Amino acid sequence: MKSRIYRYLGVLFAALAPMVSYAYTVNTTTTGADIKWPMRSVGFYINSSSGPTGTSTALQSAMATWSVVTGATFLFSYLGTTSRTGGTYDNYNVLSFGNLGSGGTIAQNSCWYYDNTGEILESDVVFNTYYTWSVSGEASKMDLQNIATHELGHALSLEDLYGAGDTEKTMYGYATTGETKKRSLDSDDIAGIVHIYPFIPPPHWMLNVTLSGSSGSVNPEVGLYTMPLGSSTTVVATADDWYRIQSLTTNGTPVAAAAEKKVYTHSVASMATNKTNTVNVTFTDATPVLVGGSVSNATLLTYAKNHGYGNNESGAAADANLFYDWLLGIDPRAGPYTPGLAITAMAITNTDLTIVMQLTTNAVPKNTQINGWLQIQGSTNVGGAYTNIVSAQLPQAVFSGNGEARIHFPGVVTPRHFYKAQIHSTP
Ligand SMILES: [Zn+2]
Repeated sequence: MKSRIYRYLGVLFAALAPMVSYAYTVNTTTTGADIKWPMRSVGFYINSSSGPTGTSTALQSAMATWSVVTGATFLFSYLGTTSRTGGTYDNYNVLSFGNLGSGGTIAQNSCWYYDNTGEILESDVVFNTYYTWSVSGEASKMDLQNIATHELGHALSLEDLYGAGDTEKTMYGYATTGETKKRSLDSDDIAGIVHIYPFIPPPHWMLNVTLSGSSGSVNPEVGLYTMPLGSSTTVVATADDWYRIQSLTTNGTPVAAAAEKKVYTHSVASMATNKTNTVNVTFTDATPVLVGGSVSNATLLTYAKNHGYGNNESGAAADANLFYDWLLGIDPRAGPYTPGLAITAMAITNTDLTIVMQLTTNAVPKNTQINGWLQIQGSTNVGGAYTNIVSAQLPQAVFSGNGEARIHFPGVVTPRHFYKAQIHSTP
């Protein structure tokens, strides 16, 4: 037995007459069942004849708006161009232009359905050529995407709303020239499509692994992954040497335990199925604590990186002699050795001061570039306070073949009884 085919119409008017508000309303059969498509993907053909330039793009944008609603599963797909026109039951879903007269009808949606089951069979939209159409919201013209988004709401089986509280909704039953607010859905429009076509979980979930910057790696590597429903996985983030994990986020939420780690294994349980889930990792510079006396960690870090350790962060961090390596300007990877630098003599001639220094280990090359500062202090009595007389940066020292260097400070001596010289890491 053949079921009888019915038709409902959704007409968008250009006049105003406020009525009671509903969140949304759905077309129903004579027995009160929702009328709706039996499938979740419905294709439309487009006939751009009599439409403005850009018609196809505007109509496909309107189709996309209803196809990406979180919480709903429904897809309007574009099937291509056609010379058919809408308004006739012919097994083709068509968006087209036609003369609907001067009675205030901007556009009209027709849906054909079985009244006994509520199943929609076909849907067409005709945009009235009585009006001038625009794809850019021009003030004196009807905006095509604006009106199409509304009409496609009818194609889903949503009805017009006429209440005073409905004016901002896509399914508000009136429209004007220049209007574009129906292009984007109101929360009640969303509630409508979610009611008719509630979300159907796919048989998988999606994981998009991303890296910001290039100072580390992730495993699995950067990419979009399709995961079996219910499955879990791990994302391992590994910072390069001299770097640390700055942040590891899942869907934008930071995982606190990952911060500052060099390596972090993040367990990802089966994530949301109604969107693409993201795990993003960023890295930041490491500030390892190196043995450095009064020298800044940054100074030693730079020295270690530039003098042999390169990217071997752990090797530098484990080098207990790094301070002396820096002070004596030697390759920090050399050793074992007992580096040393002694002040062996201090001579005063009139107001001139001469300091004699001796490298005390044969392991240190005699032509080394020595970091640090030589500081001379003096005191006028036993137990008295020493005050600074002069200091000099040690790279000024020139060591002879036997490891001896002399630094002369002319004209610095004033009468004092006691002098001392020290090597410091800072001036
Ligand atoms: Zn309408």
